[in-house]
Amino acid sequence: MKVIPIYSLRLLLTLNLVVLLVYCILTLTCDNEKQIKKLKKEVSYLQDIIDGENEKSVNEELLPTIYAITPTYARWTQKADLTRLSQTLLHVKNFHWIVVEDADRKTLLVTKFLSNCGLKYTHLNAKTDQNFKLKDSDPNWLMPRGVAQRNTGLTWIRNNISPQTEGYLYFMDDDNTYDLQLFKEIRTTQLASAWPVGLSGGLKFEGPGFCKDGKVLSWYTAWKPERPFPIDMAGFAVNIKLLFQYKEAGFSNATPRGYLESHFLTGLHLTINDMEAKANQCTDILVWHTRTEKAKMKQEDKLIKLGKPSNPNIEV
Ligand code: UDP
Ligand code: MN
Repeated sequence: MKVIPIYSLRLLLTLNLVVLLVYCILTLTCDNEKQIKKLKKEVSYLQDIIDGENEKSVNEELLPTIYAITPTYARWTQKADLTRLSQTLLHVKNFHWIVVEDADRKTLLVTKFLSNCGLKYTHLNAKTDQNFKLKDSDPNWLMPRGVAQRNTGLTWIRNNISPQTEGYLYFMDDDNTYDLQLFKEIRTTQLASAWPVGLSGGLKFEGPGFCKDGKVLSWYTAWKPERPFPIDMAGFAVNIKLLFQYKEAGFSNATPRGYLESHFLTGLHLTINDMEAKANQCTDILVWHTRTEKAKMKQEDKLIKLGKPSNPNIEV
């Protein structure tokens, strides 16, 4: 039997080790290359997303302005309501806030508030006729609210914006709750659009009922369904070109209860057939008719009577 010399065995073993080492290095670099390729693909995919997002935000800035008219009046919760609303609006691009105070003159509180709010705004005032002003003890439905203020806002747009300007009009009460998605939807309006308003009309929601292919086909309401537009003020937007086309369209204190929105929209010569359905064929709620509880000042009044009023320099 032939004996294999020990040095040959060693050589064989060394060769094996070298082959194994080369194999390992090769597979490792191969794996690394694969990994790098995979990562590069992921980076390029993420870059596409970033580019897309940048494009979107640039586009949003280029999109026409939303002109929102907000009537507001002095009460204990006014600054709290305006703060909440303005901090929602800070997230909306290309937005022009027209704030109309129900007052003989602009108040210091609203003037200061607006100058610090960081939004593009126009500050106006128009006092509600005393005959139509709600008293503290009146139920809120007794009189139409925000009539003179919305008309003043409309007049400002008609006198200060060129009729050629592309834009949208939206009425925003100061105590509602708005989802940011709503403003994206408003900016897709061609002529006029509508969507349901949550917690409105004594219902879960009120406004468009059945919608199909981007059209409102019926209304969902329980009260006065014969109204041409049984919809809350927060449930529609219109192209501002309609304001220049129908210069008389606006609001009136003589309008019967529940007809303010119908009066305005029919004044713009709109019917249900013109209303573009937004908010996922009107199945999403993007605005709520919330109402702020009146502040109770019983203890404050007591302290005033006792001659110990709170610091008058602290604005609430
Ligand atoms: N408003 C007003 N003067 C008033 C009462 C209300 O300018 O005397 C404004 C109020 O700030 C809000 C809008 O009109 O922006 C609608 O009023 P409110 O929210 O009280 O009405 P409701 O929610 O009961 O419909
Ligand atoms: Mn309200």
